[in-house]
Amino acid sequence: MGEFELINTCFKSLTTARQDVVLGIGDDAACVNMPFGESLLVSTDTLVSGVHFFSDAHPKDIAWRSVAVSVSDLAAMAATPRWITLALTMPDSNAKWLSEFTQGLQQVLSEYQIALIGGDTTKGPLSITITAMGSAKANKIVQRSTARAGDKIYVSGQLGAAALAVKKLKDIIPEDQAQLMQKLMKPKARTDLIPFLKKYASSAIDISDGLAGDLNHLCEQSKTGASLFAPHIPIHPLLSYYLQDDALGLALTGGDDYEICFTIPKAAQAIFQEDIKATGLLCTCIGIMTPSQGICIFNKDGQPIDFKPGGYQHF
Ligand code: ADP
Ligand code: MG
Repeated sequence: MGEFELINTCFKSLTTARQDVVLGIGDDAACVNMPFGESLLVSTDTLVSGVHFFSDAHPKDIAWRSVAVSVSDLAAMAATPRWITLALTMPDSNAKWLSEFTQGLQQVLSEYQIALIGGDTTKGPLSITITAMGSAKANKIVQRSTARAGDKIYVSGQLGAAALAVKKLKDIIPEDQAQLMQKLMKPKARTDLIPFLKKYASSAIDISDGLAGDLNHLCEQSKTGASLFAPHIPIHPLLSYYLQDDALGLALTGGDDYEICFTIPKAAQAIFQEDIKATGLLCTCIGIMTPSQGICIFNKDGQPIDFKPGGYQHF
């Protein structure tokens, strides 16, 4: 397949029907309508083969993950995802690979009701860059820099399964490894939390590089610190099972979960808890923001645990 045939057969047919897309794939630029009174939020992520996913990963999963991680960034700001562009670099135009990749793309576009409105297709080592665009009222976006000392710290879901999957431990039975790989390769962007973040959160960040590292970013930008209570950290049960002693460490530092860490002002805590409980969504209070800088983690006896936030860094 040549470049233009490929764009037409693989990508042009994908576009999720959205009223707000005036012009999608095919012209020099896409054109979309913004909802009245809302601002545009934009986030870009690149996934490189061998760095962000195993080079033998299934093309469907690669597509899903590429989009979900960018949508996760919008969700963490309480912005509604609407459109993406895809810059795809690949070593050759393998029809089977492309067909599976586009199936994965269709799945994830449908899941989040977003439209692929453009992109670029080039030859080279496999890498996928997604730019996700969404919208929100400017005064309703939730930032990293707006937490206050005294706010309660929450985290959604359970942590550490994706990080455990990467370890590919020999004693993990195949069924469990499959479940862990699912967590790693098909992360759910927490768009279901958007209404609650919008309504209650004073700050938020999505957890791509590990809870401790990402919470540390939030603390630095908010010029606050954090105290975490270790027994409340929601460790994924498979992680507790397979890594007993190191489970907490990996739940704190392991990346790729794409859950959301957010803060709720103390005054809103009770009503938030009640509201979220009614939905059945798991959100756990794990600590409190503090005036002093840095993150402290306390064990069940109230003793500090020796710990460095770390987090993944490319350079
Ligand atoms: P140009 O040469 O003007 O940059 P291209 O030939 O690269 O345009 O692309 C033609 C059209 O196809 C454009 O609308 C572009 O957004 C779209 N497109 C190219 N590659 C992709 C892709 N991987 N996914 C989605 N749309 C794509
Ligand atoms: Mg181009």
